[in-house]
Amino acid sequence: MKRSLNFIGEKPLLYLVATPIGNLDDVSKRTIAILNSVDLIVAEDTRITNKLLQKLQIKKPLIYMEKHNEIIVSKKIIEEIKTQNRHVAYVSDAGYPCISDPGSILVKEALANEINVSVIPGPSAFLSALVASGLNSDHFYFHGFLDTKQKVKKEELRNLLKRPETLIFYESPFRIQKTISLMREILGNRKACIARELTKKHEEYLRGNFEELLTLDLETLKGEMVVVVEGYNGENKPSLDKNTIRLLVEQLTDIGVSAKDAIKQVAKQHKLTKNYVYKTYHEN
Ligand code: SAM
Repeated sequence: MKRSLNFIGEKPLLYLVATPIGNLDDVSKRTIAILNSVDLIVAEDTRITNKLLQKLQIKKPLIYMEKHNEIIVSKKIIEEIKTQNRHVAYVSDAGYPCISDPGSILVKEALANEINVSVIPGPSAFLSALVASGLNSDHFYFHGFLDTKQKVKKEELRNLLKRPETLIFYESPFRIQKTISLMREILGNRKACIARELTKKHEEYLRGNFEELLTLDLETLKGEMVVVVEGYNGENKPSLDKNTIRLLVEQLTDIGVSAKDAIKQVAKQHKLTKNYVYKTYHEN
């Protein structure tokens, strides 16, 4: 057991500093003071951090540390903090370090070397999305990015099926259409909110259930986004998979039912919206 108490200002010290997720005016007075006070800033991407520092008129030596060199650089930084008795700040590109961003190896290394760690709070994409989503924010589960491999992604979603907490994901605009479609298939037709470009000029919230969201062409959405999904409530059951929906419609069209009526029947029988069955049936 280790306790860290009354250590602020003492040296050596590692600060984890949250940075804006879009709007550079979201920097607190304390963030400015700490960035001004440290001996060194470690950044995930020095170009991005330089932009922020220029805006804040802060000049500090910068070192770059990202996912691929985090183990090696962490050791070097901690050695320097210790031997040179430094105050160092770590900032990722946006939001909190360590949240779907590098930093946790650095923190572990610092603590293993008995270097105190302190956080300077600031913007967080997932908390901002959660509180504005309109979904239950009493209990939530943050998943971050789902795996990009379809098979693993399906498994991850299946494992979340019965979680009652609101679920929060980070997603890229290139995968959002497929991800929402997969969520609909595996989690059932839940309420969700896609929170896009938070704190920026084109900030937008798309709120509705998965089927409603899928009526939009989600591939046209640009920028950064968070997906907030209603937790399991005992009713939102997984739906038929897409192949089965197509097969059911085809079984009816094969015996002469018009595609329109077949879609209507399948939707009614399986408690799906006509729009969703229509889209699934016509999808390539
Ligand atoms: N460390 C960051 C945090 O604390 O939120 C997250 C970094 S992660 C690499 C980047 C992802 O966060 C984006 O792909 C997006 O899902 C989400 N994100 C970051 N900024 C955002 C914004 N302004 N609006 C919506 N989502 C954002």
